[in-house]
Amino acid sequence: MSYDIAYSVKVNHRLKYARLSIGARGELVVLVPSSFDQTLIPDLVRQKKEWIAQTRKKVMADQQQSRGPSDVACELPSRLVLHSINEVWQVSYRAGRGSVVEAQVIDTNRLMISGDASKSDLVYRLLRMWLKQKASLELVPWLERLSVANGLNYSRAVIRHQKTRWGSYSGRGTVSLNMKLLFLPEHLVHHVLIHELCHTVHLNHSSSFWKLVARYDPAYMEHRVEMKRAGSYIPHFVDAG
Ligand SMILES: [Zn+2]
Repeated sequence: MSYDIAYSVKVNHRLKYARLSIGARGELVVLVPSSFDQTLIPDLVRQKKEWIAQTRKKVMADQQQSRGPSDVACELPSRLVLHSINEVWQVSYRAGRGSVVEAQVIDTNRLMISGDASKSDLVYRLLRMWLKQKASLELVPWLERLSVANGLNYSRAVIRHQKTRWGSYSGRGTVSLNMKLLFLPEHLVHHVLIHELCHTVHLNHSSSFWKLVARYDPAYMEHRVEMKRAGSYIPHFVDAG
C-alpha cells in the first residue's frame, strides 16, 4: 500500500511556476502562483518523488552531522511491525525546535517524529494517535468487506485503544475494534472481526453463536487459544502511560 507524501501549500503571487522546496526539518512545501490549479499538486508531488526523497536525505544527513546521534533516547521504537496488513514502518526521529513533537508520514512506510524525543511519553502518545488513525484506515474497511461478503450487518464501527479487549459489539449495532489488532497476524484479526460480526446475529456466547462463528472461522478454537498469547505482538510503548 502506498501513501501520499505529506506537504503544505503556499501561494506566492510573484511566482510564475510551481516549485517544491524542502525545509530545514525535511518538510515539503509546494509554492504555487495564485493562478495555479491546485488540483494538479498531488500529481506534481508524485512526479518529483525521487527528487523529494534525495533532497530530504541530504537535508537530514546535514542535520545528523550537526546534532550527533546520541540525542535520541534508545527506548523509542525504530519500527512498527503491522503483521495484520503486512507492513513494516520505519520510525525515524529528528530534533526539532522547542518541545513540540509531531509525526509525519514522509514516504511509503516511513514515519518521522520531529521534536524533543527525550519526552518519550509525548512520542508514545503521538505514535498511538498515528496507530489509531491507521487502524481506522485499515480495520474499518476490512470489517466492512467481511460484513458485506457474509451478510452480517452492523451500523457503526469505532476504533478504540483498550488494554485488554480486542473488540466488542453493542446491542445498538456498534462494533468497537482495538487499534492494537494492527500488530496481530492476519488470521487472528479475521478471527476477532468474525467474532464481533457474529454478535450482530447472536448477542451472547450461546452454542448457536459458536456455530455461526465456525462457519466463517472454522479453526476458531485454535485461534482462541492463540489469542491468549496475542499480547506478545504488542510493542511495550502502546500501553505505556
Ligand atoms: Zn463475544
